[in-house]
Amino acid sequence: MAHYVCTGGCHGVSEQEGVCNAQACVREQMPLTVCNCTDGMHQEVLASVQAQNQESSGS
Ligand SMILES: [Zn+2]
Ligand SMILES: [Zn+2]
Repeated sequence: MAHYVCTGGCHGVSEQEGVCNAQACVREQMPLTVCNCTDGMHQEVLASVQAQNQESSGS
């Protein structure tokens, strides 16, 4: 079942598409990322975020 997770570190999860509502999160009011995992680990989403971070910090 698809769900939506926040990738800002607040570990927010929603069953519906939306934005992060955690005020302390770096992705507050940013769209949640769709995830299709079945184990609750959101590894697909979290792995893609780590890859992006590595790319952006490699100057
Ligand atoms: Zn968040
Ligand atoms: Zn997931």
